[in-house]
Amino acid sequence: MIGTVVAAYGKRFQVELIDKKRISCVTRGKKTDLACGDVVTIKFTDKHEGVVESTLPRKTLLYRSNAFKSKMLAANVTQIIIVLATQPSFYEALLNRCLIAAEAANITALIVLNKCDLADNDDAKQKLKLYTDLGYRVLSLSAKEDISTLRPYLQNEASILVGQSGMGKSTIINALLPNEDVRTREVSHVLDSGKHTTTAAHLYHLDEHSQLIDSPGLQEFGLHHLSTDELEHAFIEFRPYLGKCRFNNCKHLQEPDCAITSAVDHHKIAPERLAIYKMLRLEIQQQSSL
Ligand code: GDP
Ligand code: ZN
Repeated sequence: MIGTVVAAYGKRFQVELIDKKRISCVTRGKKTDLACGDVVTIKFTDKHEGVVESTLPRKTLLYRSNAFKSKMLAANVTQIIIVLATQPSFYEALLNRCLIAAEAANITALIVLNKCDLADNDDAKQKLKLYTDLGYRVLSLSAKEDISTLRPYLQNEASILVGQSGMGKSTIINALLPNEDVRTREVSHVLDSGKHTTTAAHLYHLDEHSQLIDSPGLQEFGLHHLSTDELEHAFIEFRPYLGKCRFNNCKHLQEPDCAITSAVDHHKIAPERLAIYKMLRLEIQQQSSL
């Protein structure tokens, strides 16, 4: 039987079969390297229970990681939607981490600035100009008032919504899926598994060809799974300059005749982005020397 993982709660997974029937599954042995969005083959062990036998090759895989372990956020997504808000203010470093993870996983990014009905959103809009200049799409909306401008971006895509808590992710999901009682559904699973599910990810169908994965609130987004090479390529505006530094193995930190540093000096690369790159590079290096 083939199915799609539509919810992941630690070691338990809910798999939706082609006939839309959902069954509760575990993986074999200690293997739990499955993510929401994975397409799997399963074997029934009971009427409503099964075991995952294999995972079909993934088109994409989005990770986050800290120094100790990496966590798969979602499989087979085509787009990451990063939800920000004018209030509370968002962490720009977190936005960058999401963009870098997306680039490294070959997933397109859409930045949504929510709560645009609130006054004082000029500051947030100003901050986001850097990202539109880089070529990222930024959509301003108010999920409380009208979600319709977001819909075309979701069509024929498998999207994952991420964001710090308080940005309005649940409001967006509830507005997009008025018929699914998102909160109630989570509660019933809490009861099912006997433990709470704040770390659960869920996949929802918007239509036959469009899916939406809701991931738990993100306060941190580690990138320890990236190599330093992957990291520098994930800064899209660095790409034309890579390989043009004096040293082949230039880290773009302090080296003389560094093409990236020179591009910053010539206003071709934003200094904020180089600063974020340096921070992430040092973080990754520290990890590999642990
Ligand atoms: P989540 O933690 O990201 O899931 O955020 P929620 O959806 O729970 O929203 C956090 C708070 O922001 C709630 O009080 C929402 O009512 C509020 N909120 C969400 N979207 C909007 C919006 O478009 N405008 C305004 N003014 N408030 C919003
Ligand atoms: Zn360099």
